[in-house]
Amino acid sequence: MNFQELNLPNALLRALRDKEYERPTPIQMQAIPAALEGRDILGTAQTGTGKTAAFALPVLANLLRRPPVGRGRPIRALILTPTRELALQIDESLGDYAKYTPLRTCVVFGGVNQRPQIDCLKRGVDVLTATPGRLLDLIGQGHISLKQIEFFVLDEADRMLDMGFIHDIRRLLPLLPGQRQTLLFSATMPKTIERLAADLLNDPVRVAV
Ligand code: AMP
Repeated sequence: MNFQELNLPNALLRALRDKEYERPTPIQMQAIPAALEGRDILGTAQTGTGKTAAFALPVLANLLRRPPVGRGRPIRALILTPTRELALQIDESLGDYAKYTPLRTCVVFGGVNQRPQIDCLKRGVDVLTATPGRLLDLIGQGHISLKQIEFFVLDEADRMLDMGFIHDIRRLLPLLPGQRQTLLFSATMPKTIERLAADLLNDPVRVAV
């Protein structure tokens, strides 16, 4: 199977050629078709398997297919990840995949000055990658609204719980619209993640590598 057969938009296929990806990885082959159909995904996959593209490509494709509703430029996709390093990597990958599209990305994480992050948000953003603490701070200050999120990705869910982010996640969930597509990825699937998945996901397709 190649990327063309996955029915991704041309702008994304072009970016993948620039990246010299020849074919989808197993997690991408499983997750992308279901996510393009709008299904929720529960994915068991570690870093290094290509899981970032497994969620990033269908989210970008779905954003391109559906024009934003209403006026302004609301944040339409949120990717939550536990660490600054992961957040930066995801945002860089999103930028690479989206380079031939009009979609814009920003990344926010703690431990650094908020100003450049707020400036990025002010310019307008379609896909936001964030760590939980800084995200909650910026929401509290009125710089971010999650009211129009259509796509929510919870990345490295097990690590998120290990790092004590469960309370932050529970605070964020009521701020997200109920009508949304959710993709949850975790390296392991202990009971606590299964319970979180049951709360978050609607009839998910399970994918694993
Ligand atoms: P990830 O598991 O998302 O951290 O990705 C691991 C590495 O694999 C990253 O450097 C990606 O750029 C790369 N990668 C992702 N998908 C593919 C693919 N289909 N073909 C080749 N490399 C890929």
